[in-house]
Amino acid sequence: MKLAVIGDLTVKNIPEEFEVIPYQKDLIADCYVISEDLSQEKLNELLFSLRSNEETALSLIYVYKKPEFTSDIIKDLIDGFWLETNPEQIKNLATFVKNLPPLSPELSEQEKRIILLLRFLWSRQKEKITPYPLITSPIAYHFPILRIFCNLKPGEEIDIIEQLVSFGILRPQKLVNIVPLCPQDRHYQIIFRDTCPNCSSLELIETELYYHFDCGYIGSKDDFLYKDSLRCPKCNKFLRHLGEDYEIPSKAFKCLNCGHLSEEPKVEVFCLNCQNRFSLQSIIFQEIRLYVTTALAHQVAEDGRLPLYVIEDVFDRLNLIKWNLFHFILEWERNKFKRYKRPFCLLYIFWDEQQEQAIAERYGIITLKNYFEEVISYIKENLRSVDVGTRYETGKYLFLLPETPREGAETVKHRLQAKLKYIKTDLPLPKIEIKIYSCPGELEEKNIQEIIYD
Ligand SMILES: [Zn+2]
Ligand SMILES: [Zn+2]
Ligand SMILES: [Zn+2]
Repeated sequence: MKLAVIGDLTVKNIPEEFEVIPYQKDLIADCYVISEDLSQEKLNELLFSLRSNEETALSLIYVYKKPEFTSDIIKDLIDGFWLETNPEQIKNLATFVKNLPPLSPELSEQEKRIILLLRFLWSRQKEKITPYPLITSPIAYHFPILRIFCNLKPGEEIDIIEQLVSFGILRPQKLVNIVPLCPQDRHYQIIFRDTCPNCSSLELIETELYYHFDCGYIGSKDDFLYKDSLRCPKCNKFLRHLGEDYEIPSKAFKCLNCGHLSEEPKVEVFCLNCQNRFSLQSIIFQEIRLYVTTALAHQVAEDGRLPLYVIEDVFDRLNLIKWNLFHFILEWERNKFKRYKRPFCLLYIFWDEQQEQAIAERYGIITLKNYFEEVISYIKENLRSVDVGTRYETGKYLFLLPETPREGAETVKHRLQAKLKYIKTDLPLPKIEIKIYSCPGELEEKNIQEIIYD
């Protein structure tokens, strides 16, 4: 195994399995030992480049001695300090990493990177994906470890996190902050400001409202000022005694632009990034949480691929109902047909689940998921809100089209088949088959089991 030394350093306690080689840029080694004399900036740069490179993402990285500075971000990315770590432990970790089964070269870039990250956490017995504040991130936070492994810009991690949570690979833990964001570009650099409810001007002054008992006039204090006394601008009477002639019921805001008086200014939000103005109600509140990996994440790290069933949540967008309920509705439709001769159809959409499994193993779930997302959008487009669907089992979906004669269902089938043919993909996908069963027709006799296992 190769050990690269970075910086001016004579490394002690090197296990004999390692062969020391001088470091040069882009060198791939099993282990890197970095001098503690490197500046924090240089160290960050080096860690980012090693951990974001697929070939060195899992390599062992040690800083030789504890330097004066160490940030938590650096600690998340390194394996520790060389002089404080037992050589036996270093050797074991290096061997473990080296013996991990290789990833399929056909996996999507994103899936490969996610699996590398999960392997990193698993092999180091770490479990946290921690957010850190970062003013250059649109959401004011970033998740360095996720960002570096997945090669993302700060703030872009949120989408992948949501996906991993929906897969059951990450679990949200502690709520760290809630960041108000611009509704337009989801940027945190927004300003809250008081404006005139009438003309939106920012030129507001706080003033007292005066109420003249005699004539009922209400105005701001400056309306009443006359030389060094108070005079009502409406009836021109002088105001002498507070409580007798006049009253000060409340404070108010006066707009210097249009003169409008208001009890409360209107709070508006101005985004420094897109320079648009928004109402307070339209603000988005982004939760920033600490995430931890689940048992499934360990399984994924070990297997080197995501399990097939994580695709299933894509199908939930079709508003599928449970099989029992579907069966109940189907029987009801059958009875309606017997009695009132209302026609209906069953659309059966299926594909070879074995082949789907094989494709998932080779190309990864994310590629396959993207394909099915497109398939589902076409199915959705061609169904009405009264049509109901269910998952019979993986790769077998049934849709009931009430009040639909066979010709209607045939049209849906042809439209769908035409759309599916044009989905662009390099995957050797299982053919999606569509069959129609109608009432009147074969549905009068056959039950679902006979249809599916025909
Ligand atoms: Zn105004
Ligand atoms: Zn008056
Ligand atoms: Zn904005």
